[in-house]
Amino acid sequence: MKKRVAIVGSGNWGCAIAKIVGNNCTHHPHLEDEVRMWVFEEMVKGRKLTDIINEEHENVKYMPGVKLPTNVIADPDVVSATRGANVLIFVLPHQFLGGLCKKIKGNHAQDCIAVSLIKGVHFDSKGMVLISDMIKEGLNGMDVSVLMGANLAKEVAGGAFCETTIGYNVEENGKLLHTIFNDPLFHVTIINDVPGVEICGALKNIVALGAGFTDGMGLGDNSKAAIIRIGLMEMKKFIQSRYPSVKDATFFESCGVADLIVTCYGGRNRRCAEAFVKAGGRKSFEELERELLNGQKLQGTLTIKEVMQILQREGIVDQYPLFKSIYNIAFEKAPVESMLATLGCFELEQ
Ligand code: NAD
Ligand code: 13P
Repeated sequence: MKKRVAIVGSGNWGCAIAKIVGNNCTHHPHLEDEVRMWVFEEMVKGRKLTDIINEEHENVKYMPGVKLPTNVIADPDVVSATRGANVLIFVLPHQFLGGLCKKIKGNHAQDCIAVSLIKGVHFDSKGMVLISDMIKEGLNGMDVSVLMGANLAKEVAGGAFCETTIGYNVEENGKLLHTIFNDPLFHVTIINDVPGVEICGALKNIVALGAGFTDGMGLGDNSKAAIIRIGLMEMKKFIQSRYPSVKDATFFESCGVADLIVTCYGGRNRRCAEAFVKAGGRKSFEELERELLNGQKLQGTLTIKEVMQILQREGIVDQYPLFKSIYNIAFEKAPVESMLATLGCFELEQ
């Protein structure tokens, strides 16, 4: 039986990945040609976005200028988009995940697996929750892998070579996902480490805000490299203190240091953080997101709020001076220079 793949989400990254997955589904005999992509419906210049995608094979709002394969079908109804699916690809800003699983549940094939491309974390009354675990819980315990890496969507859609990392729990599922995502220009490595891969993907967006702050201050690459180094240390500490099984090697995969670097140089979080500093406190991140991103969503600001709540609850905020400083600058009106003062006077414990 051929595997049916469905994509849940259709933003900037959703469309870049739809291009790769759509092409792979036409080339691999074990995959069904048609790929349904759930699109959050909206009107663009008086037309439904789903109609535009299905007629012009282009998401003119979130990935203009890039043609999607014709076997990728936009569907505004998440129930019909995921009906009978054997593989669900979750790729949407994490604030929009809530409620979706309820609609999808039971609609997919019995052997269905999922993969999350969502870079974020969640927390509840007990503490931190992985997005992949939220999906798993929402979908009757389905196996959920993750895919994260140094993957600026525009470059991927433009066909520039890059690497990415799939973290799996079940090796067979990691291998199936490899066939769905890998192509000569999108080099996929699979590793048995869901939490390591996933939390790297979430936390690097926080560090990218710090990198953007250094750009906003007009500092050079040396300063940014310091933020990246210290950010990586805090990421590692945060992850390994919660998941001791996560090996150092994960941080050397694309999902680790490579994604951190690319986001600190070329990402939206960096760009908005630079603009935040240049606006001199006159504009909030919400305003800048609206002004600069045309409907795309920042993840770093949401993630630092969530991480701070976790750290505050555990009483360990001071063990993460960079994260703390980034939060205070973004949301507590701390002067941006305070990040440098903080960095100059602490040593991270190993
Ligand atoms: P995006 O930033 O383009 O977000 C816009 C998407 O959100 C659109 O599809 C829009 O329809 C949808 N949306 C808006 N309001 C909604 C609502 N109320 N309910 C549901 N959906 C709604 O999204 P993206 O870039 O595809 O990011 C998805 C995930 O992939 C994020 O976790 C992001 O961190 C990650 N990611 C992004 C990139 C990138 O370069 N863009 C690269 C790798 C990973
Ligand atoms: P931004 O969301 O900051 O653009 O980062 C994109 C990304 O995750 C690249 O891997």
